[in-house]
Amino acid sequence: MTNYQIAVIPGDGIGPEVMNEAVKVLELLKKLDPSFQIEFDTFDWNSEYYLRNGKMMPDDALDTLKKYDAILFGAIGDKRVPDDVTVWELIMPIRKNFKQYINLRPVKLLKGVSSRYSGETIDFVIVRENAEGEYSNSGGRLYLGTEQEIAVQNTIITRTGTKKVARFAFEYAKKHDKRTVTSATKSNAIIHSMKLWDEVVNEVGMDYPAINLQSYYIDALAAYFVSRPEDFEVVVASNLFGDILSDLGSAVVGGLGLSPSANLNPEGDFPSMFEPVHGSAPDIAGKGIANPIAQIWSVALMLEHLGRRDLAAVILESIEQVIVQNEVQTPDLGGSSTTSEMGSAICDALQHLLLVREGRY
Ligand code: ATP
Repeated sequence: MTNYQIAVIPGDGIGPEVMNEAVKVLELLKKLDPSFQIEFDTFDWNSEYYLRNGKMMPDDALDTLKKYDAILFGAIGDKRVPDDVTVWELIMPIRKNFKQYINLRPVKLLKGVSSRYSGETIDFVIVRENAEGEYSNSGGRLYLGTEQEIAVQNTIITRTGTKKVARFAFEYAKKHDKRTVTSATKSNAIIHSMKLWDEVVNEVGMDYPAINLQSYYIDALAAYFVSRPEDFEVVVASNLFGDILSDLGSAVVGGLGLSPSANLNPEGDFPSMFEPVHGSAPDIAGKGIANPIAQIWSVALMLEHLGRRDLAAVILESIEQVIVQNEVQTPDLGGSSTTSEMGSAICDALQHLLLVREGRY
């Protein structure tokens, strides 16, 4: 019997809409699988909360969250609040304080998704460094507003940070029977930080003789993502490179509505956080037409992280079944179904698969 405590933060815009469907899936699993017990508490920390309280979350929020096994996050962003407030006062403190130094993004072309790559098997993960690299707040500006104005933004690549992300990538490859790890670099032009990146990734790779390491310059790699995405298995990248590659990867396999992500603290010292790649999508918020698949797939990543790979697999199978059946499709997939219809169709498929699995159907 496993009993998990989950913190749910739906956020802004379509966040709460897609989160409703993710919670429906969790409630169903709880009902159908007696070995799986889950409790969740929902926190209303979002832009509305900021407008009421002058902060994105309470002062003791991290202490509160620390007690949970995982955090399920929706999306954040509202035009009434500057982006640097929503990001740097909510998402970043969680990622940084909980040492979620790995951002894992699966890039998988689901069966039935119409794409120019239909018929190809595209199934890889991007392991993005999530705590340092190009997204540091080290730097500053001088001579503001003058012709001499200078901006300096430092990239922080550390031996320890790179070692940890490389080790995670190789371990992931080993655990999932993958043969190749691809490293994104640019050491021909970024000659200090990226050279250290290359050296450390190579050193870690030596401990995995059965796994091939290939390094590509980021510009070439971006082109290969488009020209031959079926060739990749595990891609490891710095914060900025990984961020860009992730959006490219998600475009290749069907768009943001289908792209989940995990912010992981691999040691388990702190809860990890699971969220769709997409933002709050203000253009469609409130219309009930957002695709909840990315959020539901994030639930699958969360369950895999918590040790229930079986339940993660059955959720993904249900999502694929609904897409293949082609009866329920949200507008981003070319249909006219609502968020809630899509969530319910996935729940129906899930229920059927679980009952079949137990021989009760
Ligand atoms: P943010 O700055 O918060 O990332 P954004 O609007 O720049 O916000 P997204 O919110 O990710 O970026 O949205 C980008 C586009 O993708 C929008 O047109 C949005 O409607 C669409 N989109 C994002 N998520 C979904 C979804 N789950 N279902 C359907 N369309 C989506």
